Amino acid sequence: MHILVCGGAGYVGSHVAYVLAERGHEVTVLDNLSTGHRQAVRWGRLIEADLLKPETLEAGFDCPVDAVMHFCARSLVGESVNQPYDYYDNNVVGSLNLLRAMRRHGVERLVFSSTAAVFGQPIRTPIDEDHPRTPINPYGASKLMVERILADAAHAHGLRSVSLRYFNAAGAAADAGIGESHTPETHLIPNVLLSAIGEGPPLKIFGSDYPTLDGTCIRDYVHVLDLADAHIRALEFMSSHTGAHAFNLGNGIGFTVLQVIEAAGRIVGQPLQFDRAARRQGDPAVLVAASQKARDTLGWIPSHTRLDDIVRSALAWHRNKRY
Ligand code: UDP
Repeated sequence: MHILVCGGAGYVGSHVAYVLAERGHEVTVLDNLSTGHRQAVRWGRLIEADLLKPETLEAGFDCPVDAVMHFCARSLVGESVNQPYDYYDNNVVGSLNLLRAMRRHGVERLVFSSTAAVFGQPIRTPIDEDHPRTPINPYGASKLMVERILADAAHAHGLRSVSLRYFNAAGAAADAGIGESHTPETHLIPNVLLSAIGEGPPLKIFGSDYPTLDGTCIRDYVHVLDLADAHIRALEFMSSHTGAHAFNLGNGIGFTVLQVIEAAGRIVGQPLQFDRAARRQGDPAVLVAASQKARDTLGWIPSHTRLDDIVRSALAWHRNKRY
């Protein structure tokens, strides 16, 4: 199939483009390169376009597109709280522009990059798809709005879609020359590793008084290549299923911030230094996925489930970072 990967120069999008190409699909990447990297686009052509400039999207549809995968978004929780208009513009209006372009060109299949942030403060854990969706920041709200638009589009226009709600994407395909690179970097695993190899600021732990075994937040880290695999399965699923669907994607195992730092220390070969800081605004204590629906329906079985393997693959990337 020919897949238009919107946001394919970014972290998850570039790994999905890589796996699509590996499995014999043709890829076109559409990206405005605001946070993505030209060097990450290595599987298919790059069209520089911006979802907020609808006329620029036309070039993405100049040859027939079988499905769209949509990763274009602003995705920092704290920033979304301070810049809500930018987040709703980029994530909601941008998605509407993309959906309209798809409709103009008769493209009826979409895999949408969603997030655990649609659930807000969890009332139970692990979080399955039936958990109430009450986002607590504009980022999560913007993603939930798009999920809702996709349900309406299924009804009105017969659009087939799968929303994949990632928990904590981590790791890299270092052998393929791609990995995580944000400026500024805010995510835990890159921050731990960059500080460990002397390429980042001193590491800070945000919050030591959460109701968890060691007082630090628990997250479900899922390898980006396992996420990529779920996207290919979602594509196959849409061949035989109409409607709008959503799946939670995680390994179902939570690790505290301190456990991540210990794992990184084991891999680097020395205990790592860190400072303790105040809680970061909007961080739930525990976020762990129940991914049984993805297992049962998509046949998704993550293969890089060991935290050490995830951290090791991220380290391989950070040691030989290309962008
Ligand atoms: N965190 C931290 N120090 C950092 C970055 C993150 O202590 O430099 C914590 C953060 O407060 C959260 C967890 O690590 O509890 C995971 O944060 P990340 O930003 O990686 O992902 P999020 O859970 O926000 O999607």
